[in-house]
Amino acid sequence: MKLFRFDGGRIGITIADHSYDITDALGIDPSAWPPVQMVQLIANFERQMRNVTEHQKTRTIDIAKVRLEVPIEWPNKLLAYPVNYAKHGLEMNSANRADLNGFFLKANSSLSGPNDAIVLPDLPGREIHHECELGIVIGPGGRNISREDAYRHVFGYACLVDVVIRGKEERVMRKSYDTFCPFGPWIVTADEVADPGNLQLRLWVNGELRQNANTRDLIVDIPGMIALASAVATLHPGDIIATGTPEGVGPIRRGDKLRIAIEQVGEMTLDVR
Ligand code: MN
Repeated sequence: MKLFRFDGGRIGITIADHSYDITDALGIDPSAWPPVQMVQLIANFERQMRNVTEHQKTRTIDIAKVRLEVPIEWPNKLLAYPVNYAKHGLEMNSANRADLNGFFLKANSSLSGPNDAIVLPDLPGREIHHECELGIVIGPGGRNISREDAYRHVFGYACLVDVVIRGKEERVMRKSYDTFCPFGPWIVTADEVADPGNLQLRLWVNGELRQNANTRDLIVDIPGMIALASAVATLHPGDIIATGTPEGVGPIRRGDKLRIAIEQVGEMTLDVR
């Protein structure tokens, strides 16, 4: 199943190539603030989906004709792992590694959707880079989750671009500008991804392939990332983990078109402004 947000906070699902607007079936107010409706749905997913099917309130929609929005707008946390592919460490000439340095945070407000442009700040002379990453969405929350239990805490996956200004300032600031975390175009539930440890990720800028790698080369794998993060902080439903970028990062400029695609997950094309 795919879950998505669209047209001003409505929530939809795609099952077997058919898409439905389940907003009214779930009794969701799309204009409610804070916009945590998707987080609440993930937290009570099985019960909520029973409501949808029992009441037969689903409305068919054409997903190509709606405006998709960032599927999770207000997670409790947006965690990210630094150098988590060896070849990216080499290209950055960096001694950092996810297994040594652990995770960092990006501002939740940097999240943006599949139809939002990446808006670059006016910083002459500074390089702003794309990082192509698999995003993990947490389902059942927890603390001190073991490697063995980790996949039971994964709700699903999405494409994620970790945009960053290279330089010396605090990493959190350089990665937290508005629109610096495109995420989507939807969440694919974990049952639809056969082996998340073997997914090809690709990113193009203006049609030129810049990044092309596989999650099998992660230094800290998906169970390891969940175990490490939850040893520090309670993970909550809807939390997002950016799993780190492979090699091939590079600058983006105004006018560029950036495309990210992850097999079995989805793809999105983003304008840079
Ligand atoms: Mn990153």
